[in-house]
Amino acid sequence: MSDVTRRRFVTGGALALAWALPAPRRASAQSASAGPANAQLIEDLVAANRILVDQGVVDGYGHVSARHDRDPNRFLMSRSLAPELVTAADIMEYDLDGEPVNSRGRTSYLERFIHSEIYRARPEIRAVVHNHSPSVIPFGATGVPLRPLYHMSAFLADGVPVWDIRAAAGDTDMLVRTPALGRALAQALGTRAVVLMRGHGAAVVGTGLPQAVFRSVYTEVNARLQAQAMALGGTVTYLSAEEARRAEASIGGTLGRPWELWKRKALSR
Ligand SMILES: [Zn+2]
Repeated sequence: MSDVTRRRFVTGGALALAWALPAPRRASAQSASAGPANAQLIEDLVAANRILVDQGVVDGYGHVSARHDRDPNRFLMSRSLAPELVTAADIMEYDLDGEPVNSRGRTSYLERFIHSEIYRARPEIRAVVHNHSPSVIPFGATGVPLRPLYHMSAFLADGVPVWDIRAAAGDTDMLVRTPALGRALAQALGTRAVVLMRGHGAAVVGTGLPQAVFRSVYTEVNARLQAQAMALGGTVTYLSAEEARRAEASIGGTLGRPWELWKRKALSR
């Protein structure tokens, strides 16, 4: 028997054995890697981490991920690390169960299921941010709806739902630490850009990293401005649905401008 034939034979035997065995408890733990991600995507993901710090959206906590360019059933996110410290070497690959494909002893963010379940629910989404963006928190806790006060936050016009973890799981430590909680959050997000998490923070999505980062930044700014406008005591006028539609279309074509600026600053350190 030639080496090649023998190898084929052995492989076939292993396959037959695999069929005879009960299915592994979690097939994902044995998932093969989708292969190396695009270097530009990794660089953008590192930049996104630092930009979100620079813009006051994340601090020592919070995370950002990107869907893998080679496999829609995989996404990329740093190991458990403060966003400011993330480098390319810290980026890990995850499957849509939120399990690392090859952890090599590295620890994962507890709330990685926010990302995995949103990617599962929203095929068009290619980047997800989870943050504890400070100005946004009061809108998750008071019942006052977050609404687009100006053109930069027109993407809020579809409504910003508030997800209350208590409705899904009673009293918890507030963390989305299971796939079931991630699913409940993704359901609350629906087709929108942002979902607030009562007493915790927000999840923000985009069709790419620049959009998810842009939306995270301007959700924070809008929340700050809206609170200021409401404190002035007059009647606050928000963008109409049609204004928001037009503004989003216009601004959408210029995302590259702030992105390039933010990225250059973030990577120059
Ligand atoms: Zn969190």
